[in-house]
Amino acid sequence: MTEPRIRFCPQCSGELGPREDDGRVRLACGSCGFIFYRNPLPGVAVALVERERVLLVRRRSSLFDGMWCIPCGYVEIDETVEEAARREFREETGLEVEVGEVVFVHSSFEVADRPVVGIWFRGRVVGGEMAPGEGVREVAFFPLEAPPAELAFEGDRLVIDMLRRDARGNMEVAEPGRVRSERREGAIETAP
Ligand SMILES: [Zn+2]
Repeated sequence: MTEPRIRFCPQCSGELGPREDDGRVRLACGSCGFIFYRNPLPGVAVALVERERVLLVRRRSSLFDGMWCIPCGYVEIDETVEEAARREFREETGLEVEVGEVVFVHSSFEVADRPVVGIWFRGRVVGGEMAPGEGVREVAFFPLEAPPAELAFEGDRLVIDMLRRDARGNMEVAEPGRVRSERREGAIETAP
């Protein structure tokens, strides 16, 4: 993680300098006391699985251009994670989804200086027409058994592995906690 190049306070434009806080050195404002906390960003993704195939998009992006990923994006300041997941999916694929249970949560440090806490949901299509949206070159289903080699994110690979092991293969909306604990037990039983 490189040092941030931010120099002035976003609250009062005062100069930022190093200060010890919670056992870490952080940037803090000499004028108003603002502390510049650096935290991972929440990212969301929807894994749409139909007949043991997962819907992926080929990225048109400054990051990992031309590579495939599960439709995903960042959470806006006034959105819930579910709203963000639904919006990103619609923007990238043209499809409206109902956002279901959480499949996976994962800390990613793959993009330099932009750590993300990724949350993958299951989804079920409720409308729309499949078409690549802004920031997307292609939208296509891939067998869970044979995802493309050019996957942008390691987290997606882990999720696809998990979905493949999940014998049910399709979405069931249920209480997230209950379903997750069932999946964990199942994963232990089926682990090689
Ligand atoms: Zn300040």
